[in-house]
Amino acid sequence: MIVDLPRTFPIRVAPLPGEALDSWLEALAHRMDTRYGDVLGDLGLTATRTGGRNLDLPTDWTIALLDQEAARVTHATGVDRDVLQSMTLMHFHGRALLIDPDTRQVNRKRLWGRGNGSRYCPDCLADSRGRWQLVWRLGWTFACLQHCRLLADLCPNCQRTPRQRLFSLEGQPTPGRCGTRPSRRVEPTPGSGCGHDLSTTHTLRLSRDHPVLAAQHHLLRTIETDSADFGLYAQLPQPASVALSEIRAVAGRVLTSVAASEMSAWVPEDILSAGGASQHPDGATQHKTLIRPGFMAPPTAIRTATAVTAALRILGQPSPPPAIFAMRQLIDSCRDSAEKTTATTITTWGRGTGPILRSVQLAALGPSMRPSDQLRKRTASFPARSRIDEQQLNHRARTLPSIFWHQHWPRRLCWSAADST
Ligand SMILES: [Zn+2]
Ligand SMILES: [Zn+2]
Repeated sequence: MIVDLPRTFPIRVAPLPGEALDSWLEALAHRMDTRYGDVLGDLGLTATRTGGRNLDLPTDWTIALLDQEAARVTHATGVDRDVLQSMTLMHFHGRALLIDPDTRQVNRKRLWGRGNGSRYCPDCLADSRGRWQLVWRLGWTFACLQHCRLLADLCPNCQRTPRQRLFSLEGQPTPGRCGTRPSRRVEPTPGSGCGHDLSTTHTLRLSRDHPVLAAQHHLLRTIETDSADFGLYAQLPQPASVALSEIRAVAGRVLTSVAASEMSAWVPEDILSAGGASQHPDGATQHKTLIRPGFMAPPTAIRTATAVTAALRILGQPSPPPAIFAMRQLIDSCRDSAEKTTATTITTWGRGTGPILRSVQLAALGPSMRPSDQLRKRTASFPARSRIDEQQLNHRARTLPSIFWHQHWPRRLCWSAADST
C-alpha cells in the first residue's frame, strides 16, 4: 500500500524505446527545468536529499525497481509500471546477466555482468538528443549496428566511465553532456558534471559486413529472444544464458592463451591495432580483469569485441568441421600455457556452459584420446549426447527385456569378435 503518493508532474516526457531509466529521469529534470535531486526526491528514488554531498548514493533502482518505487513513479509520470521495469537491468535478468533480487546487485562473476557505468554510441546520442540506451550498460554490448562503429567507453574530456554514479542531485542535467561530477577534492561544491558533448567522441568505424558487427548482431538477437540459433547453435538452439556462458568460456581461453602474435588468426587486423592503442584509466577494474582475462566483463568495448569475435570463430561456424579445427588450435595454444585442456578438465572453462561447447571440445580432443575413451565420450557425434546418470542407467537396464541380453546381444558380440579375427 502506498501511504505517501508524490505530486503528479506537470510535464510529461515519454521514454524512448530501449531507453535506460536514469536517462529518462534526467531528460525529465531537463524538461521541467529543475534540479535532478528534486525529481528523484519527489519520486522517492533516493533516501537522502542532502544536495549531492553523498557522492556514493546507491543507484540500485537503475538495476531493479521495487514495486513501491515503480508505483510512485507511475503515479507521478503516467508511465506504465511494466515499461518502467523494462528500463532497468532487471529487463535482462536471466538472459544477459544475473541479479540478486534481495540486494539488487548484479553478479559480476557470471555472464559478464556490469552493475554500473555505461558505454555509448556518439551518433545515437546525437540522433536522440542525448538519450541513453539501456543495452549499452551490458557487458555484452560493444558496437552500434545502426551506425557501424564501436561504442565509446569513456568521456574523452574527464576520462571517466559515464554513469558509474548518479548525476549530481544539485545539478540540472543536459542530455548528451557528460554528467560525471568533478572530484570533491578538486571542487567542493558538485555542479552539473564535466559537461562535455559526448556526441563528438571518436570511436572506430566498421564496415557493414565487419565480423565484429556480425558478432554483436548474434549476441543482441540471442539476448532479445532468449535463444541462440546462430552458427553451431542452429543444430541445437540454447537459452541465452547457456550460449553466453559458452562464449564467455571460449573468449576467456582466447584472452588467456592465444599469443599476441597469433591473434590475427582470430580477429581482423583493424580491431587488433585499435585494441593495442586503447587504454583504460580505471586501473583497479582493469587490473582485476587482467588477472583472469574473460572471467569478468572485459573493461573496454574493443577488448570485448576482440574476445567475442574470436569466440564466434568457433561457436559461430555454420558447421562442425571448421569449428572443431579452430577449437583444436585454441586447445593447442592452451597446451603451450600453464593450464592444459583434457577431456576431464573441459568443465573448468566456465560455469553454466552446455552441450555445444562440450561437443566441440570433445571432438577437438578426439584424436588425442584412446579409442575406448573416444567411444565413451561419443566424440564422433555432434552435438554429443549428454551423459546419463546412474539412476537413468539402472532404469534403462531394468526396462530392457532380459531375452535380449541372453540370446541376441551375446550372439552379435560373438559375430563381431569372429569377424574381427
Ligand atoms: Zn549508434
Ligand atoms: Zn566527462
